[in-house]
Amino acid sequence: SKKVDVLGIEFEHTTKTEIIYTLEKRIRDNKKTFIVTANPEIVMYAQRDSQYKNIVQSADYILPDGIGIIMGAKLLKNPLPERIPGFDLMKDLLTIANKEQLRVFFLGARENVLNKAIDNVKHDYPGIQIAGCHHGFFNEEDPEVATMVQESNPDIVFVALGFPRQERWIRNNAHLFQQGIFMGVGGSFDVLSG
Ligand code: UDP
Repeated sequence: SKKVDVLGIEFEHTTKTEIIYTLEKRIRDNKKTFIVTANPEIVMYAQRDSQYKNIVQSADYILPDGIGIIMGAKLLKNPLPERIPGFDLMKDLLTIANKEQLRVFFLGARENVLNKAIDNVKHDYPGIQIAGCHHGFFNEEDPEVATMVQESNPDIVFVALGFPRQERWIRNNAHLFQQGIFMGVGGSFDVLSG
């Protein structure tokens, strides 16, 4: 598929409709998928931290979160079709999960925020199977949380640890999984909890 390079980060040349279609197919085909929705902050941080840049580049799809990336790509004369905000993509994946009764794990945010977000998900997307959840303030040296996510056998894992931690967590633990959609969602649980 076509990529658009913005400061060394290779964005997917796609619309939201197209990528959702692709992701639905990958779920059906049990293909493990790492998604990064990158905003200008992430792209700038990757310039300073080559290890993080490698992690981002290892994603299956890097999508432009925010108008800053769209403008940057346009200035570089290699335009992207449209912005794909992480929160919107998460909501679309929740809609698919609801329809297909998928297993979703919610990892991250403060415990009360997480619980509120899960209550709202249960109400708004009753078809979703909550595979599990865990707050985002844990020690990553301890494999307990990763094991918990693994054993929950999720179809989708939303990781709300903020960047760069969420992408590192996905990268470090992806090998534990045979399949599943893994996506860093930043402050999205805070929004979902409202
Ligand atoms: N967070 C977390 N663990 C941490 C640091 C942050 O779970 O060690 C959560 C925080 O509670 C919030 C989200 O990660 O829900 C980060 O949101 P923010 O908007 O700061 O991140 P960004 O969108 O900039 O990635």
